[in-house]
Amino acid sequence: LFHRARWAVSLARFPMLLEYDLLVVGAGPAGCATALEAAKAGLCVLVAERKSTVGVPVRCAEYVPANLVGELGLGRGFVVQPVKGMKTILPGGEVKKTLSPGFTVRRELLDQAMADAAQDCGATFQLATRVVSREGQTVKLQGRGGREMPLKAKVVVGADGPHTLVGRWVGSVNRDLIPAIQVRLPLRQPLDFTEVYFDEAFFGGYGWLFPKGEEANVGIGMRSPNPQRLSLVGALKGFIERLCREGKVVPRVLGWFAGWIPVGPPRRVTFGNTILVGDAAGHTHPITGAGVFQAVTAGRMAGKWAAEAVKAKDMGVLSQYEAEWRDLLEETLERGYMRRLELEKEWDRLPEIIKGCWVAFREYYART
Ligand SMILES: Cc1cc2nc3c(=O)[nH]c(=O)nc-3n(C[C@H](O)[C@H](O)[C@H](O)COP(=O)(O)OP(=O)(O)OC[C@H]3O[C@@H](n4cnc5c(N)ncnc54)[C@H](O)[C@@H]3O)c2cc1C
Repeated sequence: LFHRARWAVSLARFPMLLEYDLLVVGAGPAGCATALEAAKAGLCVLVAERKSTVGVPVRCAEYVPANLVGELGLGRGFVVQPVKGMKTILPGGEVKKTLSPGFTVRRELLDQAMADAAQDCGATFQLATRVVSREGQTVKLQGRGGREMPLKAKVVVGADGPHTLVGRWVGSVNRDLIPAIQVRLPLRQPLDFTEVYFDEAFFGGYGWLFPKGEEANVGIGMRSPNPQRLSLVGALKGFIERLCREGKVVPRVLGWFAGWIPVGPPRRVTFGNTILVGDAAGHTHPITGAGVFQAVTAGRMAGKWAAEAVKAKDMGVLSQYEAEWRDLLEETLERGYMRRLELEKEWDRLPEIIKGCWVAFREYYART
């Protein structure tokens, strides 16, 4: 209710200015982190988000590493439970336990906490508003009932997710995406590890069971169509049956969604006064599919460099954003991409190659 009331206020802020320092397209973790950092630095920021409520509907398995929660410094109101680490279950049944502390969260509350913080620093959120086109320096937004709003911004940040429109404007889009589908199911007993399942049927991907209190997020991301001609829905049904047989979940679907995960190589995402962040920039890990940490981290960098560029009246400063995200993420993303190529090429030898292709094993890091 708190969030509804608060967001209703931001919706009522018409008419908008005609010119902003920074336009952020999308209010996911990448967009909110960008807006927060830029507003803190004193920029006049507008975030345009097509959804009516930030973070809803959720499209995420909702695991985040513990250090992200600490670094955000936004409390733990969005945390559902702590997680000690990950269990990787291989096709032959071998289980590898990795300690990696984290949390499962309510993603919509995490996104909203970041949006609240950005709004507290002065950023304006325009919800139920889709960015639809750009002509020269003028960006066109479309609100409820098709009402159009043209505006100008000194810097434009595309934080608009896997199928980025801003990326299309600058010719930098995600060319390789994997579909994923997830359901919420009741757990038979609480769990304190996330579980990742490799199976010959899940071509180029994996199944997951992420505990979230009394429930679990259970899903599959894989290439589809695939050599086995198994659909994503067919694979998920088989996976749920397995988890039921193993006594882990109750076969009562509480909700479901489908989504896309960028899995391509790192690419250039800075063009003139326009930059891309998070899933729009392909910052998602090509092997694990995780992207919240990168979205927030790169978003902070984007907001910081946008502020520097506006203050210096020099868009060339934005190249520092490209340099900084590459410093932190490029090697990890490049390795993930190389491992993905190998995983898919050698899929018929999955039990032999998996340790070299999955992040829980030393073999994954042994080569460049
Ligand atoms: C099935 C699945 C499970 C996942 N599980 C995890 C996980 O457990 N942990 C993890 O770290 N990552 C996970 N991810 C990845 C994670 O969800 C993304 O990496 C993360 O959401 C990226 O944040 P973002 O802000 O870049 O993009 P998004 O969260 O996609 O936000 C983009 C926003 O832009 C808005 N938008 C798009 N176009 C426009 C437009 N034209 N105008 C206005 N607004 C627009 C969208 O409505 C959206 O709100 C998962 C992904 C999937 C698909």
